[in-house]
Amino acid sequence: MIPRTLLDVHIENLPRVDTDCIVIGSGIAGLYTSLKIAEKCRVTVVAKKSLLESNTKYAQGGIAAVISDEDSPLYHRQDTLIAGAGLCSADAVDVLVHEGPEGVQELIRFGTQFDREADGEYSLTMEGAHSQRRILHQGDATGAEIVRALAESIRRNTNIEVLDEHFCIDVVTEDGVCYGAIVQKPDGELMFLAAKATVLCTGGAGQLFRYTTNPEIATGDGIAIAYRAGAYIQDVEFVQFHPTALTYPGAPRFLISEAVRGEGAVLRNIRGERFMERYHPQLELAPRDIVARAIVSEIELTKSTFVYLDLTHESQETVKARFPTIYEFCLRYGLDLSSDWVPVAPAAHYMMGGIKTDLHGETNVKRLFACGEVSSTGVHGANRLASNSLSEAIVFGKRIAERVIALPSPERSPVFHIELGRADPPTQAIIEKRLKLQKLMLRHAGLVRNENGMKKGLGELRKHVNVYYAALSSREHFEFANLLTVALLMMMAALRREESRGAHFREDFPERDDVVWKKHIVQHREFGLAEEDLIHGTIVD
Ligand SMILES: Cc1cc2nc3c(=O)[nH]c(=O)nc-3n(C[C@H](O)[C@H](O)[C@H](O)COP(=O)(O)OP(=O)(O)OC[C@H]3O[C@@H](n4cnc5c(N)ncnc54)[C@H](O)[C@@H]3O)c2cc1C
Repeated sequence: MIPRTLLDVHIENLPRVDTDCIVIGSGIAGLYTSLKIAEKCRVTVVAKKSLLESNTKYAQGGIAAVISDEDSPLYHRQDTLIAGAGLCSADAVDVLVHEGPEGVQELIRFGTQFDREADGEYSLTMEGAHSQRRILHQGDATGAEIVRALAESIRRNTNIEVLDEHFCIDVVTEDGVCYGAIVQKPDGELMFLAAKATVLCTGGAGQLFRYTTNPEIATGDGIAIAYRAGAYIQDVEFVQFHPTALTYPGAPRFLISEAVRGEGAVLRNIRGERFMERYHPQLELAPRDIVARAIVSEIELTKSTFVYLDLTHESQETVKARFPTIYEFCLRYGLDLSSDWVPVAPAAHYMMGGIKTDLHGETNVKRLFACGEVSSTGVHGANRLASNSLSEAIVFGKRIAERVIALPSPERSPVFHIELGRADPPTQAIIEKRLKLQKLMLRHAGLVRNENGMKKGLGELRKHVNVYYAALSSREHFEFANLLTVALLMMMAALRREESRGAHFREDFPERDDVVWKKHIVQHREFGLAEEDLIHGTIVD
């Protein structure tokens, strides 16, 4: 079993700092939730890098909300449920589609600027699997604009203190109640941050895979922290791979937004053949998982490592105006999106599952909340509808704030003491171990999975569990231990789910099986892995 903490710790020996609420993470979930809680309480925001570095910063397409008179929450609900392939929580989706528009207005009040049409109305785009125009955006850099506006509001807010370059190692719990977090300062010293509520907003875990659109921070820390603390972890087998990430020597896997295909870009294999007609009637605008698997299949057929994205039918002016960030980024590597075919391949992009919460973002551990990509509210089911993740963060962030503000202070202090007597840390360079794990996850738990591969992968992962019993002190080691935890949880859930649904594709079970598998897979540190039957509302081992 994975130990309760990554460190031997006696809370009474650590310097203690008190606040009302701790928010771990500074993406949209962390920034927005902090601002809402700070309307009534003191908030301390902890971020392991700068306040501005997060997945959110890289979001391109936009944020989905029902704004237009021609749209309706019913349509948004329907689109979300269809994308989720039978595993969405209808109640959570209702919250999203009804409260999203007010959340967007609040983002605007905090200073976010979205593009407008000449008549002053908000410019709304359409994205794959949406039936209506409902995506607000700021060029192709929507996330950066949201972070800018929220971070500026945070800096002006005297109720909020920001601890950037601080790393949350674990949360402090006793008898199923959370009392705060153990945080490592930039100089390596530890502190106990005590509060009446702790909100994990730590984002996703794209760094589990060799190729990802996510930045370095996305190491799944929040899921691992919550798991160690006894929270339920749900649906982690569902990982969305984005079909088109730039695949060019020396360049990171930079995302080439779906909107580029929306503007008519076509996919060609390295022989120059357009191939999507062999895979789906919607061609390049088929669901993400289908496009991604088609690309992998073409890559294998042509013994290549990429396919091409061809937008050369558009003029340079149009491409520059519509996709300025993508255009500029590709140009840095000598690729002109308006005249060159750009090499692309799928990359891990988004985690549908995470820490299971109720409709107010609270986990089964009292006073411990989760918001944003780290959470599993039930909104996304087995596959996320494009642009719903930014909306989910603000809608549930507001609900968390309401509950946190109403919470009384805890009546006692914890006496948290974990002493395992840990060994020296492993000597193999941690960077090497991380790379090995990423390659293993891509091979055995990537876009196409099967039992043999996953059993082999699980065996390989288990060889590293001694890291949990080592005296770790560096951030790289903590991150590796967290990646390993999430990898194990993901591999076990993916192995258990003997069907294909949404983003989870098993070549040995290629069909969706609603009779047996209309269930969540829920994992818990003590109770192990269970299936939650959505039809009968029961949990069975
Ligand atoms: C390239 C790209 C494009 C995308 N485009 C869109 C889009 O157009 N629309 C959409 O809806 N979604 C999009 N997504 C998904 C969306 O951006 C994310 O799901 C969302 O931004 C997650 O926000 P978050 O606040 O939950 O986490 P993040 O934005 O990832 O923030 C996580 C924060 O937690 C901090 N953190 C993590 N671990 C620790 C720790 N141990 N201690 C302290 N701090 C920690 C990090 O430093 C960071 O501040 C995109 C994602 C990517 C990668």
